Amino acid sequence: MAKDHIMFVGAHCGDVELAAGAIAHKYAKAGHKVTFLHLTAGEKGNPPHTSVKEYKNQKIRESKAAASILGVHTMTLDYKDAELFVDDETVSRVATIFRKEKPNLVITHWTKSMHPDHAACPKIVEGAWLKAALPGFELDGLPPHGIRQVFHSENWEDTEYEPDIYVDVTEEFETYLKAISEYWFVMNASSFRYYDYYKALGTTRGCLNRTTYAQTLKYRIGSNVRKGAHIPGFPISQ
Ligand SMILES: [Zn+2]
Repeated sequence: MAKDHIMFVGAHCGDVELAAGAIAHKYAKAGHKVTFLHLTAGEKGNPPHTSVKEYKNQKIRESKAAASILGVHTMTLDYKDAELFVDDETVSRVATIFRKEKPNLVITHWTKSMHPDHAACPKIVEGAWLKAALPGFELDGLPPHGIRQVFHSENWEDTEYEPDIYVDVTEEFETYLKAISEYWFVMNASSFRYYDYYKALGTTRGCLNRTTYAQTLKYRIGSNVRKGAHIPGFPISQ
């Protein structure tokens, strides 16, 4: 069976790891290529006595350590934390990465988030998805690339997120917890109890999935629609 390339696109180092790191690990373990693309380091939640510049380097180091535990590739772009915009330059840059890396599935933030960078990220992905696929766009001489599917994953800052897909990550959850522990903010931020929240979330999603742990995804708005001659799964003649 052909292996997939799944690319997780997050606003800050740490976002996609928290939201779907166990799903990423599950696919990486099975031999699929998995890449984390962080648009910014997320450097402005810097700890006391650490400058924004130092924290940026620290977060990139932490992202590499987490990626190594999960068995995935990682890259961080140099956009600034809390200054992520849906503009032509950013969309073209991500579209160029899509053409170079050729992911066939992209997983990114949910569209409704109280964090402006998180809300901008799926809009950048949508724009880049279109640009990467359209032959009329010239991007570094790279051939067009079509991504088969885009899903959203679950961050605590999301609003109106109701999961569509539950993925059993029971076997991967211990490694996931180890990977997210590489991040200082996950273990030490005074603003939010990241580790406790995501461990509990994986547990409650697992309860609903009838597995020990689970992480969830969501279809794009309007994309979970099936058109045809009969109700999906219930053909007229059997
Ligand atoms: Zn974030």
